[in-house]
Amino acid sequence: MSHSGDHCQQLYDQLEASNRALKASNLELQQFAYVASHDLQAPLRHISGFVELLARRYQGKTDEKADLWIGETLKSVELMRSMIADLLEYSRVDSQAGDPVPVDLNSAFEASLLRLKAPISENQASVTSESLPTLMGDPAQFTQLLHNLIGNALKYRGPAPPEIKVTAEKGEREWTISVSDNGIGIDPAYHRTIFLMFERVYSSSKLPGTGIGLTLCQRIVQRHGGRIWVESEKDEGATFKFTLPIHSGPLPHWPTGKST
Ligand code: ADP
Repeated sequence: MSHSGDHCQQLYDQLEASNRALKASNLELQQFAYVASHDLQAPLRHISGFVELLARRYQGKTDEKADLWIGETLKSVELMRSMIADLLEYSRVDSQAGDPVPVDLNSAFEASLLRLKAPISENQASVTSESLPTLMGDPAQFTQLLHNLIGNALKYRGPAPPEIKVTAEKGEREWTISVSDNGIGIDPAYHRTIFLMFERVYSSSKLPGTGIGLTLCQRIVQRHGGRIWVESEKDEGATFKFTLPIHSGPLPHWPTGKST
């Protein structure tokens, strides 16, 4: 082998080694999230059981402050329960994925609408799509992705009835899918942080949520080899965009082993 051939081989070996290390640490993190959230459920159930007992026996029978404190504790327990459930779901994105198959995104769109029937009619929303492509991936995860983005578009609505559009544009190597709405919009200062776990723009917001929906979307998109971002201004609606590669071979980020 020539001198430069040697050098190439060395670089290749180094890259492979760091790739293996990254995969291992990623798997460890997934397992950590799974075990942590799974094991947190038992003591939380214990706490909530006792606070519910307290509420049942003493609410309205002691003083106003005690009632308030019991109520606040119950609310926090409920929030923590949702956060743990979401964390578990996040840890399962890789481990419980099926093998990639061709997925008609029109069907994923229809399936997500079915799950959002109630908020769509309550908000008198119009949710439409242009003809969407068929791409390789996990059908349940594509449905979840559209469900989370359309669900957010409904939740963060403005004063006018929500108008939500899902469109697709074909590039040379990838498709870009957009989910646009006419809701409250997002100040550019938050465009990156909203994708972080448990981050919300208004953490004390009256709207329910744990701030993990977009983190899940990002995880799903990334494991399919794509990117996700938002284009928006405050009060001007938001457009979430994600790319999905046009693959002919296997997906590069697909996990090889199922851990849980
Ligand atoms: P959650 O809805 O539980 O807070 P997400 O991770 O889905 O969690 O969203 C994070 C934050 O991003 C939300 O709290 C909200 O402030 C903002 N956001 C997400 N989608 C939209 C949207 N379509 N319009 C305006 N703000 C949004």
